[in-house]
Amino acid sequence: MIDWRLLQRKLGGQLQRPLTGAKATPLAGGDTNRAFRLDCGSCRFFVKLDRVDRESMFVSEREGLEALRSSQTIRIPDVHLIGNDGEHAYIVMEYIELGWAPGHDRLAQSLAAMHACVQSRFGFHCDNAIGSTPQLNRPTTDWVEFWREQRLEFQLELARRNGISTQLIDRGLRLAGNLAQFFTTYRPQASLLHGDLWSGNWGFDHAGNPVVYDPACYYGDHEADLAMMELFGSPGARFFACYRECFPIDAGYAERRDLYNLYHLLNHANLFGGSYASQARQSIDRLLAQLS
Ligand code: ADP
Repeated sequence: MIDWRLLQRKLGGQLQRPLTGAKATPLAGGDTNRAFRLDCGSCRFFVKLDRVDRESMFVSEREGLEALRSSQTIRIPDVHLIGNDGEHAYIVMEYIELGWAPGHDRLAQSLAAMHACVQSRFGFHCDNAIGSTPQLNRPTTDWVEFWREQRLEFQLELARRNGISTQLIDRGLRLAGNLAQFFTTYRPQASLLHGDLWSGNWGFDHAGNPVVYDPACYYGDHEADLAMMELFGSPGARFFACYRECFPIDAGYAERRDLYNLYHLLNHANLFGGSYASQARQSIDRLLAQLS
């Protein structure tokens, strides 16, 4: 285990205040790293640990958090320190006490405002990670090419290396080759996205302000974030009604939702195996059936 007192010393040096009494409590909820609450006297921090060779993932997580922060649309934890002790990589950030949900109106408004932050190109200034899988973000003005090459084909290639059924991969590649059919009239903007917006990565602080964390940021179609929010449960009709008041959702969203969530299903199949590969296969078959 990491030497918490040594980490406390480094953190105190970084924050330029003496910290004492390090006490770490494991937290549940993450799907990639080990998470802890670190109490240093009356100061409280949130710490994630990973393998030492994955420190760069914490660096790209900080880049994503900074991009979201600079949008000034939603609460993000402050990152205090990233480093390693030779055995573990760590990221230390502000601890945000997550509380009750006052209703999802403000979450919808904040995310719509975040998605209204647009730029001319899709992608991001650095690659990052989705779970522990690398995520490519090479900037381009062509969204269909971006989703095909840097999202679907990338995961399908990983699936091939992981020995996932060649039928799934062949059919997935056929779908990827025909993506343009889902975008005949719809031209997405390059919106600032959280990138991994399942229900474990958003919440509310004790004042009821929406908070997001653990992003896999890039600029892309806002529908990709909305789709991810519906992959394992849904924030509900009221959320979507509030969101629509701030940022219209195209009528073809329902057709593209599975296309966007296929990326996450493939990633889950690559990371965790189990039934995710058959879910991905079923999704590919449904999407192929929509092609003319
Ligand atoms: P992982 O990278 O392993 O998926 P997360 O960043 O999602 O880990 O964090 C795991 C859990 O810890 C979250 O689901 C959330 O409940 C909680 N959490 C995340 N960030 C903070 C924070 N800054 N303060 C307090 N709790 C947090």
